Amino acid sequence: MRERLVIPPELAHLSPGAIAKALGYSRTAILQARRREAGLCISCAGRDPDQGGYCASCRRSIRKSQARRARKKNGFRKWKPGSRGRPPKAAK
Ligand SMILES: [Zn+2]
Repeated sequence: MRERLVIPPELAHLSPGAIAKALGYSRTAILQARRREAGLCISCAGRDPDQGGYCASCRRSIRKSQARRARKKNGFRKWKPGSRGRPPKAAK
């Protein structure tokens, strides 16, 4: 994994595109580094990001899309009452 990008202060006043060109990073990486430094969610610039840099609502939507991808790939079906296996710990 690449190390986390920290924007050098002498480049901080430039636009994301100009910094991206100067450092060889993507514009997305520059924007995310800026938001991380400012203590904001790296996706939506919302408040209270977690360790990974995303806020609670972005984290939720990421988990959702990851679950959808996993279901598509592995054919996973959500547990239902009366089906085989252990019910999930948070069964409703
Ligand atoms: Zn967010």
